[in-house]
Amino acid sequence: MTIQHQAYLWIGAEEELRLKTISFVQRIFCAQEGCRSCHTCKAIIEKRHYGITWLVPENYYTLKQLEPLFHVISFALDPQEKHIIIIERADLLTTACANSLLKSLEEPPQGYHFILLAPRTEGILPTIASRCVKDETTSRTSSTAHRLLPYFTQLSVSVAGELIKEIEKERVPEHEIAYLLDGCMMYWHDRFVEALKKGDSPMAQKAGAVRDIIERAREKMPMPGSSKLFLKNLFLSITL
Ligand SMILES: [Zn+2]
Repeated sequence: MTIQHQAYLWIGAEEELRLKTISFVQRIFCAQEGCRSCHTCKAIIEKRHYGITWLVPENYYTLKQLEPLFHVISFALDPQEKHIIIIERADLLTTACANSLLKSLEEPPQGYHFILLAPRTEGILPTIASRCVKDETTSRTSSTAHRLLPYFTQLSVSVAGELIKEIEKERVPEHEIAYLLDGCMMYWHDRFVEALKKGDSPMAQKAGAVRDIIERAREKMPMPGSSKLFLKNLFLSITL
């Protein structure tokens, strides 16, 4: 995967953002676009990949804590090389720290990219926010499940017939698809985290893979009128 922008600002729940970031950088560095099992993917999970600088503050950031970052970006990269700087809790950047970052965020040296994470937009200085491509993860508290969600949580081919009947019976408008995908995403993300906690790696692998399929589906939303086909394909790709 090629990384599009020089600086991102992602807003959402801490754990969710951490996993989203891991999966994003895995897709950048892994030769198989984020297989989760190769040496690179493992190094990323364990935060020891050479291409990533990951900052986690204990409290408000100090200028001293940002020093390693400026040290890192002082090295010129080869044209093919990439280095990702992840700043957790960007809402804890003081004004002085934020100011020290502005130039780097706006025009990072060749090959360097920033990902800023924060639980909320309050506390992020507008000068920082305006230099980043922003993405706010949907809040998990505000949703009731879409009626088709159960078909996408069982991973069972046996419900395919029923699903097809459901989508033939009543057209699913495109805006509902986005909503359904959000629900799927949360469901599989939770299964993934749960499996990681239990040390159930086959389940983590499966849930992670499904989550990736859904994430890719979200990037390619159906054209008006093609939601039926979209849902059938999505069902098949996560079930088979
Ligand atoms: Zn990999």
